[in-house]
Amino acid sequence: MPTEAQAVLSKTIIVDTNPATTEVLAELPCATAEQVQDAVARAHIAQPKWQATSLAQRIEVLRRFQGLLRDRALDVAQLICREAGKPTAEAITTEILVVLDAAAFCMRTAHRFLRDQPVPHGNIAMKSKRGVLTREPHGVVGIISPWNYPFSTPAVEAIAALVTGNAVVIKPSEFTPLAALELQKLMQASGLEPDLLQVVVGEGPAGAALIDSGVDKLIFTGSVATGKRVAEAAARRLLPVVLELGGKDPMIVLPDADLDVTTSGALWGAFMNAGQTCLSVERCYVHRSIYEGFLKMMADKIAKLRVGNGLASEVEMGPLINERQLRTVEAHVNDAVQSGARLLAGGRRLTELGPNFYAPTLLADVTPKMRAIQEETFGPVLPVATFDTEAEAIDLANNSNFGLAASVWTRERSRGEAMARQIKAGTVMVNDMISGFGISEAPHGGLKQSGIGRTHGEMGLEEMVQAKYIDSDLLPNMKKVWWYGYGARFQEQAVGLIEALYGRDLARRWKGLLHTVGAVRRKSRV
Ligand code: NAD
Repeated sequence: MPTEAQAVLSKTIIVDTNPATTEVLAELPCATAEQVQDAVARAHIAQPKWQATSLAQRIEVLRRFQGLLRDRALDVAQLICREAGKPTAEAITTEILVVLDAAAFCMRTAHRFLRDQPVPHGNIAMKSKRGVLTREPHGVVGIISPWNYPFSTPAVEAIAALVTGNAVVIKPSEFTPLAALELQKLMQASGLEPDLLQVVVGEGPAGAALIDSGVDKLIFTGSVATGKRVAEAAARRLLPVVLELGGKDPMIVLPDADLDVTTSGALWGAFMNAGQTCLSVERCYVHRSIYEGFLKMMADKIAKLRVGNGLASEVEMGPLINERQLRTVEAHVNDAVQSGARLLAGGRRLTELGPNFYAPTLLADVTPKMRAIQEETFGPVLPVATFDTEAEAIDLANNSNFGLAASVWTRERSRGEAMARQIKAGTVMVNDMISGFGISEAPHGGLKQSGIGRTHGEMGLEEMVQAKYIDSDLLPNMKKVWWYGYGARFQEQAVGLIEALYGRDLARRWKGLLHTVGAVRRKSRV
């Protein structure tokens, strides 16, 4: 008898469409729970050999992958554009370049990162031992990824998992499976054994099946709601997880900010990938003294944005991914307008361009209770409000269930950095936003509902390994003084050790030491 999950899975076919044109790109069968388990079982068989392969050889595979991706950059970017709707230029800068750099980072960092690390002992009683910290792969890492960065999200995570000796099974979003399948093809063409990076296509149930399939670590990127379900399912197996979830990133504009630069930054931050970026500017707080000027300049710049099919090289904003996303955007905009926000640009579907297009939208005078401020909109909407003092701006920024990233805009860098320290977010940028994702050395991840753990950088590599502490005793012929043979004398010696280590003054420490030395010569009773 098939399980309930298998029954649901076996019925499903994914129809992958271009959100700009609704052209069908592919029809793919969903993996059944059994197929997901088989993929993970094959990965488990292949992984030990990969772990035993020298790091230099693992890096060589990455180098070949990097070369192939460089040579095929435009083709892969156009595939991403057709499947996810973002302009090709954005697919190059925010997906391909990010992955090429992540590969470069792993290639130059992995040797140092995976080298045994000595652990010197402070306690004199432990000086006769030598400790080292080793980092070992988990085994099989499961990656569940979203549609908004369909190539770079699973690729950056897979590269970190592979270089540290893991095998990988990816469950991509049902809206963008082709980008992940392209990653798989490139890895195989680079010489990676097929079972070391597999892609299982499917909807939510295929993701649920992956969690239950015996993977040793899970990296999930997606919405808060799914993230909570994933965390619950993982907890039942005590499966370690990284959760990269949603954001509601605030942008704070101080009165001394360069208005032209800042409005161009806000424009890109809010409308890049049609606002469907976890790190998008989703709330903008502008100092009252420059508020109206800021809004005017924003509206002028929005009017110049070129919206359309991202395959055309001049297009700057593409469609949303699907109807569900459009409805969320509409609901947030309508709620804001009905609650008193001023609509200064957009606020409507662009049906003349296709079914999934929404105009870049500017909302002024938004208030904290509006849905556009409380919830992740994930669309081309920039809600703007004023503040009077820096303390108020920080309160507004921190008044959120999310804590992924934030930005502060000012000509005075030290002032921006001081504010950055007070904002509760995983990343705070001064005079830029989003680009932290493209800095391979920088950790990426959030606080509060934005998630648990980190990807990218050394912290991302750390998530792919298990720490093992190995300790060797240097005096193997000697019984340890703290072993059996207890009694009044031993207690005195043990108290003497406490005095020797932590005594209030030098005299007490010396006295303690004299009391304790006898313990070294003590004969163990057993
Ligand atoms: P989603 O949560 O709907 O889906 C994410 C993935 O989870 C998909 O592959 C989906 O099939 C799978 N899934 C669904 N139900 C599942 C279940 N029960 N068990 C296991 N897997 C399941 O998210 P989405 O709409 O694809 O992506 C958009 C969201 O992702 C936004 O909230 C965005 O902020 C977030 N995101 C976060 C980051 C980050 O790094 N923090 C990056 C990109 C996107």
